[in-house]
Amino acid sequence: MNKIRFTFLGTGAADYPEDFGMAKNKFDKDVRRASCVLINNQFLIDCGPHVLESLKIKSCSPYKNTKIFITHTHSDHYNQKNIEDIVKKAHFPVKIWCRRDASIIKISDTEIIRMTEGKKYFFGDGFSVIATDANHDEKSFPQHYFFNFSGKKFFYACDGAWFLTRSYYLIKDAELDMIVFDTTCGDYLGDYRMAEHNSIPMIRNMLPSLRTINAVTSKTKIFLSHIAPSLHKSHKETCRIVKQDGMIPAYDGLDVFL
Ligand SMILES: [Zn+2]
Ligand SMILES: [Zn+2]
Repeated sequence: MNKIRFTFLGTGAADYPEDFGMAKNKFDKDVRRASCVLINNQFLIDCGPHVLESLKIKSCSPYKNTKIFITHTHSDHYNQKNIEDIVKKAHFPVKIWCRRDASIIKISDTEIIRMTEGKKYFFGDGFSVIATDANHDEKSFPQHYFFNFSGKKFFYACDGAWFLTRSYYLIKDAELDMIVFDTTCGDYLGDYRMAEHNSIPMIRNMLPSLRTINAVTSKTKIFLSHIAPSLHKSHKETCRIVKQDGMIPAYDGLDVFL
């Protein structure tokens, strides 16, 4: 079976710089663009303000069988203009996936798939996806995605703090191959965002329980994303801080193969 390729086009939060300066047209581990993942050069998770530039830097062109999975409608994840640009370049009608009640503006040549929570949808060759509501600003219609790529299980959990009970049951005994956590806040206690975003200590607390319920096992790749540079140390220092916990901070441009 061919490996599934996950490309982190962005790993930052909403505190990205207005001007990328020296990091324009290239990736820098300490200058993060808005979080976004491209799977197999076809499927985008989120389509925020920097996606076109990231695709260019990475020389990726996801215009064949394009699907866009929107996690929620905050502006660092959902950019109407950039979606329209991708739709224009796409070879086939683009499918946009979102929460059942999301305010998504219809664009011609697209199909909007409003997902029922907990329902399994099949797409591609042996691929499926289930959405589950996230613990995040309700007005942004947040959801996490549980993908199954021909047996490779991937849970994408940005944005959202902790997990809701439904998500717990969804990933219980899943033996995930890969999980991506919202890690907006760094390695400190007391941040006020505890009901919308995670910090490193919150994930540190969750991981042993996720191991107990067999969601995470020794083979699970544990990535941190949606990292707010203003709330974190440098990328290198963050790698050092979380190494003993088995977590890997993602960075813009990173490719992971499963
Ligand atoms: Zn965000
Ligand atoms: Zn958000």
